[in-house]
Amino acid sequence: MNRKRRFALLIAGLMTLSACQTKAPGSPSSSEEAPAQASVQESRGSQEDPSSSREISPEEMAAKPLSQGEYVEDAEGKKIYQGQGTFFDTFDTVVTLTYFAPDEETFQKYLTYTHDEFLRLHKLYDNYHEYEGLTSVMTVNRLAGQGPVEVDPDLFDILEFSLDHYEASLGKVNIALGPVLSLWHEAREAAGAHEGAEDEDQGSTSGKEVRLPDKAALEEANRHTDLAKLRLDKAARTVAFDDPKMALDLGAVAKGYATEKVAKGLEAMGMKNGLLSAGGNVRLFGYHPQGRPWKVGVEDPKTNDRDQALAAMKMESGSSMVTSGDYQRYFVVDGKRYNHIIDPKTLYPATLYPSVSVVAGDSGLADFLSTTFFLCNKEEAARVLENYKKQGVDLGVIWVDFDNRVTSTDNLVGALEVRE
Ligand code: AMP
Ligand code: MG
Repeated sequence: MNRKRRFALLIAGLMTLSACQTKAPGSPSSSEEAPAQASVQESRGSQEDPSSSREISPEEMAAKPLSQGEYVEDAEGKKIYQGQGTFFDTFDTVVTLTYFAPDEETFQKYLTYTHDEFLRLHKLYDNYHEYEGLTSVMTVNRLAGQGPVEVDPDLFDILEFSLDHYEASLGKVNIALGPVLSLWHEAREAAGAHEGAEDEDQGSTSGKEVRLPDKAALEEANRHTDLAKLRLDKAARTVAFDDPKMALDLGAVAKGYATEKVAKGLEAMGMKNGLLSAGGNVRLFGYHPQGRPWKVGVEDPKTNDRDQALAAMKMESGSSMVTSGDYQRYFVVDGKRYNHIIDPKTLYPATLYPSVSVVAGDSGLADFLSTTFFLCNKEEAARVLENYKKQGVDLGVIWVDFDNRVTSTDNLVGALEVRE
C-alpha cells in the first residue's frame, strides 16, 4: 500500500474513533459501550470508507499530534478534561493518548511529552533508517561487527531486556533474527504490504511481482542469527557483534517497550487516569473517572471491525494488553496469507492462530510475549507460562482460532467476556 493511501486510511480510522467518542463521552472503555480495541489503531477495516477522508501529507502528520477533547464530570461531579490526542509518525502505527486531565493545558503538555518520547524511541529502535546525532539500531547493525558501539541507555536496556527473556520464552523471539526478517520485509514491501483487513487479492494484482523469499537465501541468512554472538557490555554501555553479518530487529518488542517507558514517564509527571494505545498495544492508567471498568476488545481477525470485538477484557489499573495478529501485516501469494511473525525453526510465518493477546503488568513484556505465544503451540505455551509463574509473573493469554473461537488462560475467566 502506498504511504499516502495508508495515511488517508489512518485518518479515516481516527475519524471513526472520534465519532465513537462523541457518541459516548467517557469511552473508550466502559461497561455499556463498545470496548477499546486492542488493535484498533492498526486496523484500517473494510467497513471504513477511505474516500470520505481527506488526504493528509506525512509532513503534516509529523508536525503535531491531532487532538480533541471536552470537559466532563467525574463520578463526584467534578469537572475534568477528557482529551484524546493521536499521532501517526512513529512505529509505523497510530498512537493515541486518552487522558482525563485536570484541564486542557495539562492534557496538551502530556500529549507533547508522549509524542516527543515516542519519536525519540522510534528513532533509536529503527532498523531501517539512520539519524544524525543518534545511534539507531540500523547504525548498530552497520558498525557493531567492527567493534563495540556505544548506545543510548534506552537502546541498551531493551537489548538487555530481550536477552533476559529469550530463554524463558523458549527462544521463539530472537532479536538477532534480522537477516531472516529483512528478507521477509523485502518480499512484503515488493508485494505492497497489507496492513489491516483488505482485499485479499491486492498483493497479486498490484502489478508488482509477488514472491516468497528464496529458501536457500533464508537458510544462509539464518547462519547469522546466533544471539550468543551479541555482546553487551553494561559498564561501557556498548554493543558488539561477533558475527559481522548479524543484524538486530526489535520489531517484536519495541512498540510495547516504548509504550511502557512513556507510560512510566507520564505517571512520574502525574498522570493518573487514562489510556495509551500504540497499534496492538493498550496500556491503562488508574481508573475510569466515571466509575466504569476499563475494557479492551479482542478484535475479529477476519474483519478488523472494531464494533464487532470477539471478546472484551476487563483490565486492571496499570496493566496492558498486546495483540499479535496475522492480519496486522502480511502479503498474499497464490491466495495464501504470509504474516510478519517468523518461526525461527522453519524460517516461515507462524500459522498456528490468527491472533494471540497477552495481558500483563508490563507492556514491554506483553509485547515480547504476544509474539512468543503467537509462535508457540499449546504445549509450548504451557511451558512458557510455567517459566514465568516460577518467577512470580502473572500472565494472561487469549487465543483466537481460525473459526474465531476465543480461549484463554484460567486466570482471565471472569474478566474476559466472550461474545456469544
Ligand atoms: P509483533 O507484531 O509484536 O508480534 O512483532 C512482529 C515483528 O517482530 C515483526 O514485524 C518483526 O519485525 C519481528 N519478528 C517477527 N518474528 C520474529 C521472531 N521470531 N523473533 C524476533 N522478532 C521477530
Ligand atoms: Mg510483540
